[in-house]
Amino acid sequence: MATLYGVLKQAETEGVAIGHFNVSDLLTLKAVFESARDQNVPVVVGVSEGERQFLGVRQIAAMVKSLRDEYDFPIFLNADHSHSLASAMEAAKAGFDWIVFDVSTLPLEENIRQTRTAVETLKAIRPEILVEGEIGDIGSGSEIHDTARDVRKGLTTPAQAREFVEETRIDTLAPAVGNMHGMLKSMVAGATKKRLDIERIRAIKEQTRVFMTLHGASGTDDGDLRRAIAAGITVVHINTEVRLAWRQGLDSALSTHPNEIVPYKILPPVIDSVKRRVAARLALFSK
Ligand SMILES: [Zn+2]
Repeated sequence: MATLYGVLKQAETEGVAIGHFNVSDLLTLKAVFESARDQNVPVVVGVSEGERQFLGVRQIAAMVKSLRDEYDFPIFLNADHSHSLASAMEAAKAGFDWIVFDVSTLPLEENIRQTRTAVETLKAIRPEILVEGEIGDIGSGSEIHDTARDVRKGLTTPAQAREFVEETRIDTLAPAVGNMHGMLKSMVAGATKKRLDIERIRAIKEQTRVFMTLHGASGTDDGDLRRAIAAGITVVHINTEVRLAWRQGLDSALSTHPNEIVPYKILPPVIDSVKRRVAARLALFSK
């Protein structure tokens, strides 16, 4: 079985990206897994602290492990946006492959100090675990937002990124390069797209040489995503688009079966709706 590090290294070498999709339930997990299997590409499942609290830390770890073992398939699990060392350690002990340690709202020097401690502590629990750090401001909340943030405020600079990576010894870096969590209503309608700072991505990659993760990629222009991957992005996070597809699939399933009460007869359209969205993103990232 390939390791997560090996999967990222191969993607970097081939100039493709690995898809990372957040899940809150078994329907979404099934949809992500089936899409990845259909295309025979490795995939990462992410769970934020809120998603972990809802699903159970050890329970989601057991579900992902059972898929990986039964199908001998490279599906990995990430503790997305862990805001405390305690929640990061809980995930590491439960068998997660990857931890995003996110104290990016703190001043840089304090972010560096806490992230370095997290790297040391988490690798003492499981040496093969990967740890991601974050600098810059990409907002929070993978939801539908009414108003646009100014993404030019809080962009990561190549010099900051270099210092951060050297001082913390993280495995992967989450920079702010025009991305943001959540989607605007105009993006849901397809009228506007997020745009990325491709030259900034290229410069940060040159300065750091670590794997880079693009958070908050829902609603991003397809061409920008391809160029970002070519410039050095190795992992792309999609959450809001998945949640939107889940909700649309659920609305349709309930209105199609107004009198049905059997969950497994009502809910398959939810899986299908999420699968279509995940499949489209995986196809884009892997070519
Ligand atoms: Zn994120």
